[in-house]
Amino acid sequence: MALIVQKYGGTSVGSLDRIRNVANRIKALRDEGNQVVAVVSAMGGVTDKLIGMATELTSSPAEREMDVLLSTGEQQSIALVVMALHELGIDAVSVTGRQAGIRTTGSHTRGRINSIDPDLMNGYLKDGKVIICAGFQGLREDGMIHTLGRGGSDLSAIAVASALKADVCQILTDVDGVYTSDPRVVKDARKLPEISYDEMLEMASTGTKVMQSRSVEFAKKYGVVFEVRSSLNNNPGTIVTEEHDQMEAVVIRGVSIERSQARVTITGIPDEPGMSATILCCLAEAEINIDMIVSNIAYDGLARHSFTMHSNDLGRAQAALKPVLATLGGNSEVLTEAGIAKLSCVGIGMRSHSGVAAQMFKALGEAGVNIGMITTSEIKISVTVEEHQIEDAARVVHTAFELDKAPVV
Ligand code: ADP
Ligand code: ASP
Ligand code: MG
Repeated sequence: MALIVQKYGGTSVGSLDRIRNVANRIKALRDEGNQVVAVVSAMGGVTDKLIGMATELTSSPAEREMDVLLSTGEQQSIALVVMALHELGIDAVSVTGRQAGIRTTGSHTRGRINSIDPDLMNGYLKDGKVIICAGFQGLREDGMIHTLGRGGSDLSAIAVASALKADVCQILTDVDGVYTSDPRVVKDARKLPEISYDEMLEMASTGTKVMQSRSVEFAKKYGVVFEVRSSLNNNPGTIVTEEHDQMEAVVIRGVSIERSQARVTITGIPDEPGMSATILCCLAEAEINIDMIVSNIAYDGLARHSFTMHSNDLGRAQAALKPVLATLGGNSEVLTEAGIAKLSCVGIGMRSHSGVAAQMFKALGEAGVNIGMITTSEIKISVTVEEHQIEDAARVVHTAFELDKAPVV
């Protein structure tokens, strides 16, 4: 008998038929004698619909109320999954994030999990019940309902698996696992049998939305090995785990894409200490997440900085930067460009192989894709390209690194 924690995403509970499918899958595990805790998302599209209603009423909905509103999506699906299980004769019970003892911290709509008090869930398990737990939500220190950011049910599941010391943690979704690139875009993308936490983290934070990046960080920190697999078949999925020696033999594990990016360039910045801090502090105060930052050495005493952000934040960034420009000495200008996207190659093998950037840039150049900004980490190279070229760019880079072929290790 094993304790299995599963997570079913929005598509997997997207209709009553899909909910019945989830119930059948849980019943099969139960029939084998396992204990099961399933963390579930809102039915596909529900969270977006709720956000749409809020923003139709007001352009700046209060974040506290957004938490109250969005947490209802998951609450619907836990009750429905439990009802489907009751129909199959399974003794199941739903728990909200609060009931599950999930304690959170941070600003509204961006909660982080602080701790989980597993007593109630352990009691239910002891009584032989299947537990269906609402993902994406917890109880903040001040007693408020709190959501965990988009895709946050992944984080709930990993944290619950850790708190309950589960034997198995599975993230069930609408694809068979983690692929070398988004299979909806790169048709010959291959399912990876395994991937290291660090690679999964870099892929997740560069646009591979199959896992929420903070959930992978949490899994790495607490050593939760998990499997990403399909809720629609029984194919083996992708194991996300600690890095081991053979993993470095593969140079590039995957290619990620992130759309809807915008670039802001500030020119004519005096080449003096404190200038970059002045600019970035004002963006931080406006709660704008900056992604890539590229800066050139100054020429004639003047520097220029470029950074990227989600295109939704562009207007707010321009407004936040306006008063700062005046303090930079009068020669500064803000230039903006929307309609760009980010392409990233990720692989821990990059640490021990040279020439990866050259190979990536050559493939893009030959395909007529112009590179905007470039940033790197030890295991990642990211570039910006025009958004209309991002899919072609992903395909040519995927082919250039032969990711469509099984690696010879
Ligand atoms: P869920 O609703 O189960 O949380 P998501 O929609 O958040 O599922 O994530 C699954 C989707 O992630 C897939 O349908 C797929 O299009 C997308 N995706 C992007 N990149 C990848 C990748 N490298 N491997 C697998 N799926 C990916
Ligand atoms: N329902 C939330 C979202 O759509 C959380 C999740 O599905 O993981 O982002
Ligand atoms: Mg998801």
